[in-house]
Amino acid sequence: MKEMKYPLYDEGEPVYNQICRHCGKPMQGRRDKKYCDDSCRSLHHSPINSPNYNLMRNTHTILRKNRRILCLACSHFGSSSEVQVAWMLDRGFSFQYCTQLIHQDNHEEQFICYDFAYHWINPGIVKIYPIAPTAKAA
Ligand SMILES: [Zn+2]
Repeated sequence: MKEMKYPLYDEGEPVYNQICRHCGKPMQGRRDKKYCDDSCRSLHHSPINSPNYNLMRNTHTILRKNRRILCLACSHFGSSSEVQVAWMLDRGFSFQYCTQLIHQDNHEEQFICYDFAYHWINPGIVKIYPIAPTAKAA
């Protein structure tokens, strides 16, 4: 009787201890088994778990938060109000994120976040305004 080089099972018991490539849990089974089950296999190959997707999701989360704060500022102080930067920072505004940056003819930079915009009045104050008729307090 010829002995198998890589037996799959020994009297019904799995023989190879491995780590699931998705969840990292120890598992037993065939030597070439990579995942606990179909769920782990599917999740591992999902683009939702890719580093690029995480980058986009995190960026979008920051932009949505920025928009919420701009919207709140317009409803709280009125449209085209001058708002203290500290007020925005207190609410978690991230000044390094915007959806568009427009260099205007008067050399001002207009920072766009979806349907809201702001520009700097001085280092502690920005002027915030909606830029589309659909922008309103949510
Ligand atoms: Zn798993």
